[in-house]
Amino acid sequence: MTDISIRIIGHAGRITLQRPQALNAMTYEMCLAIEAALDTWRDDDTVAVVVLDAEGDRAFCSGGDIAELYATGTKGDYAYGQKFWADEYRLNHKIFHYPKPVISFLQGFTMGGGVGIGCHGSHRVVGDSSQIAMPECGIGLVPDVGGSLMLALAPGQLGEYLGTTAARMNASDAIFAGFADHYVDEAHWPALIATLEATGDTGCISKAATSPAPGPLQAAMPDIDRHFHGVSLGDVLTTLKGEDSDFARDTLKRMSRNSPLAMACTIEALNRLRGPSLTLEKALDLEYRFTARAMEHGDFLEGIRAAIIDKDRNPKWQYADGSVPPMAVSKMLMPLGKMALDFGGTGMKIGFIGLGNMGAPMAANLAKAGHEVTGFDVAGTTAEGVTSATSAAEAAADQDIVITMLPNGDILRAVANDVIPAMKAGATLIDCSTVDVESARAVAAQAEVTGLGCVDAPVSGGIGGAAGGTLTFMAGGTQAAFDAAKPLFDIMGQKAVHCGDAGAGQAAKICNNMILGATMIATCEAFALADKLGLARDKMFDVVSTSSGYSWTMNAYCPAPGVGPTSPADNDYQPGFAAELMLKDLGLSQQAAEAVDADTPMGQRALELYQQFVENEGGKGKDFSAMLPRFFARGRG
Ligand code: NAD
Repeated sequence: MTDISIRIIGHAGRITLQRPQALNAMTYEMCLAIEAALDTWRDDDTVAVVVLDAEGDRAFCSGGDIAELYATGTKGDYAYGQKFWADEYRLNHKIFHYPKPVISFLQGFTMGGGVGIGCHGSHRVVGDSSQIAMPECGIGLVPDVGGSLMLALAPGQLGEYLGTTAARMNASDAIFAGFADHYVDEAHWPALIATLEATGDTGCISKAATSPAPGPLQAAMPDIDRHFHGVSLGDVLTTLKGEDSDFARDTLKRMSRNSPLAMACTIEALNRLRGPSLTLEKALDLEYRFTARAMEHGDFLEGIRAAIIDKDRNPKWQYADGSVPPMAVSKMLMPLGKMALDFGGTGMKIGFIGLGNMGAPMAANLAKAGHEVTGFDVAGTTAEGVTSATSAAEAAADQDIVITMLPNGDILRAVANDVIPAMKAGATLIDCSTVDVESARAVAAQAEVTGLGCVDAPVSGGIGGAAGGTLTFMAGGTQAAFDAAKPLFDIMGQKAVHCGDAGAGQAAKICNNMILGATMIATCEAFALADKLGLARDKMFDVVSTSSGYSWTMNAYCPAPGVGPTSPADNDYQPGFAAELMLKDLGLSQQAAEAVDADTPMGQRALELYQQFVENEGGKGKDFSAMLPRFFARGRG
């Protein structure tokens, strides 16, 4: 192949990109050739280091060759792109974990796919011509090839800024942002490469390196942090639009060129990635969730059309005004199940006890992500991809992680008595059921004395969230136990908050559900009043969902059939979230309030109303939003 030269010189495995006429853009074949060379050199004792460079002064590598992706994608063939990205990301992963030093020389443009091969090695050398960027949002993609790892690790909110604006970094900026390590005068690069070839020793790199003059990014950090600390694209755009400054104007101009859906997903992905459990694997997995869907559901094909096919630079983005619904972001970043990126051999052994409405889809998502899951449920239920055990103890034996998803605290305590003695040393017990704080703390104490980690991690998001892998986990326990559990939360959900010590997750859950119970009642009684005042339900929804009365119960889970997004109301109030489970949670909140002497009159009244509904008004077995027909049928007396 003439696009790339692969050879061994002295002690160095040498890879030179040689497509300077195309700014060394990486084709699929080049990607596969680099991977094959790395595989061969791994066990070749003559190769002490790998040196990557490129011909021409204008670019190390300006990105992946996207023309072929467009040609296949516009014909409805999404599999080609999915395979290209999966293979490319595996190469990025291989470079990152390569057991020998990988030294890259990054002159001119290093962008997108170029970052994937040039910025994951052990020694990344930059010079005066270097310009590094993650410009993917401009073609409707999120920063990928593992670039989101560097963005998530960059100082402050710099990652959001670089990812959404595609701003270019000079040598100094790239070192500051964590995309490069050493600045070396480009005139010295040939001699440095010759020394690496001759000696196979990387010591010469730091000796040749000097400090570059500071770049503009460091000085811009106060502005970047101030404007990019919001949790969504909308937040960022609002603060930028609210300021009359050169920085705000310039940043808005850069962002106006990019896909709003891609920018919103970039910000969400960085929020999810940051934290102690960040790994390259996690970054690539999340990136691939987006890219695998980018042709069919994202702006990618339109982005390429405008940039390189028609070259009109006038893409018609899906959300042109920048207001991207959170649901659209969630859909692009949902787990991919069987299609998820596979790095080989990373699966954990998991026991899952309680395969009911919630547990079964959660366990299935873990199995789909490549983990070895063994399940048990007294009712004999099973889950897709999960091996069945004959008892809770059998499901728990010899597992790295045991997860419980059970109806209440008494059952949890009984199951814990069976499984804790069966678990292997150092394993972690994660209870995702909603139970009383006391039971959560008792089980944690019991686990910890036997040397097990334990996390109480109740969830929010219902059966839809369990099936879609978009649950929110609120977790209590030690940092070490939370860190062990976090990779699994990332598969089963979209957010996990470490709320504090044992029991803190349950405390957060019952407070949340006390609000939920009270707002559902408030929403239902308001609809019933509106009905009686002759106000059409869809008009009521239109007003309230965008006015100060809005809430999750109105906007996302509307109790009125045929109004708002699909909800259990549209399915004859089949749960969903059963009224008796809401009654249980309200009971837990009042039990906790009693124990700590907290005044919770709304929670208490919600408890009474759900009790009446479940016990005397036929609410048992119905969704908790079935309060609406109940209110509608009643008068004031
Ligand atoms: P579910 O009743 O459908 O599932 C519970 C499962 O546990 C059942 O299949 C049951 O057979 C099994 N089980 C009971 N005792 C057992 C034992 N000793 N050993 C093994 N299995 C046993 O309930 P669900 O809706 O899946 O909810 C589970 C938990 O999640 C509850 O604590 C609930 O409050 C909470 N939760 C539910 C929702 C929701 O929308 N359904 C939302 C958030 C939280």
